Amino acid sequence: MSSLEKEDNSKEIIIEKQSNDNTEKEDNNNQQNKENEEDINKSSSEIEVNITTYPLKITFVGDSSVGKTSIIERFINDKFESELITATVMSNYNCKNLKIDPFTEVNMQIWDTAGQERFKSMIRGYLRDSNGIFIVFDLSNKRSFEDIDSWLDEINNSDVDSNTCVKMLIGNKLDTEKREIDNDTANKFAEENNMKYLDVSAKDGINIVTMFEMMGSECIKILQDLEKSGRKNSQGNLKLEQSGKKEEPKEKVKKTKKNIKKNGKCC
Ligand code: GDP
Ligand code: MG
Repeated sequence: MSSLEKEDNSKEIIIEKQSNDNTEKEDNNNQQNKENEEDINKSSSEIEVNITTYPLKITFVGDSSVGKTSIIERFINDKFESELITATVMSNYNCKNLKIDPFTEVNMQIWDTAGQERFKSMIRGYLRDSNGIFIVFDLSNKRSFEDIDSWLDEINNSDVDSNTCVKMLIGNKLDTEKREIDNDTANKFAEENNMKYLDVSAKDGINIVTMFEMMGSECIKILQDLEKSGRKNSQGNLKLEQSGKKEEPKEKVKKTKKNIKKNGKCC
C-alpha cells in the first residue's frame, strides 16, 4: 500500500469514528429528552390544585309550558323529549357540578317547579334560600313574557334576599319560527330589572350550558364578595370545600369533590 493510500484509509477511519460518536451523542440526547419529557409529564400530573366547590341552590320560575323542565333535562341529561311526562307533578331537584374556571366549580342543586307555577303564591317556599333564580318565558308566547312582572312580584314578596340572589331572564324556544318577543325588548326589560338576559333552545341545546355558566359565575362573584367581607348571605352559605388535590387522574379529582351538603342533602 502506498503512503498516499494509507493516509486516505486513516482519514476514512477517523470520519467513521466521528460519525459513530455523533450517533452515540444523538442517542444520548434522545434518551435525555425522553427522560425530561417523562419527568415533565409526571410532575404536571402531580401538581396540587386547590379547587373550591360552591354549592348553589338554583330555582326556576315562569309560566307553565315555557320549557323549564325541558331546559333542566337538556342540561342534566343532554336530552330533549317533546312530550316530557312533566306536567311536573312533584317537587323535583337535580344536581350537577360545573367547572367555572380551573380553580372553581359549582355544585348546582337545580329545583324545578312541581306545578306550583299554576298557583303563584305556592312558589315562595320553593324559592327560599335560592342563590340564583332563572325566570323563563317562551319566545313564541307574548303572554308568558308579560307575566314576568308578576313572577318578579312573587320573588320580591318572598324572603329571597335580592342583594345576594342572582336573577336571570331566559327566553326559551329560540328554535321556533314564530317569535313574538324580539331580542331588544327582552334585553331592555332585563336591564331595567337588573338582570342578565339570554335566549336559548332546550330543543336544540342552544345556550343551555352557557346560561348555567353565567349563573354560576354571577353567584360565585357574590359569594366571594361575602367571603371577603366576612359576611354571610341569608342562604347561610359558604364555601364548603377547599382542599389541595392532586390533579392526577381527573376522575379522581371529581370523585373527591362529591360529598357536598346543602340543606342537609347531598348530591
Ligand atoms: P314547563 O311547564 O315550563 O316545565 O315546560 P316543559 O318543559 O314541560 O315544556 C312544555 C312544552 O314545550 C313541551 O311540549 C316541550 O316539548 C316544549 N318545549 C320545551 N322547550 C322547547 C324548545 O326549546 N323548543 C321547542 N320548540 N319546544 C320546546
Ligand atoms: Mg315542568
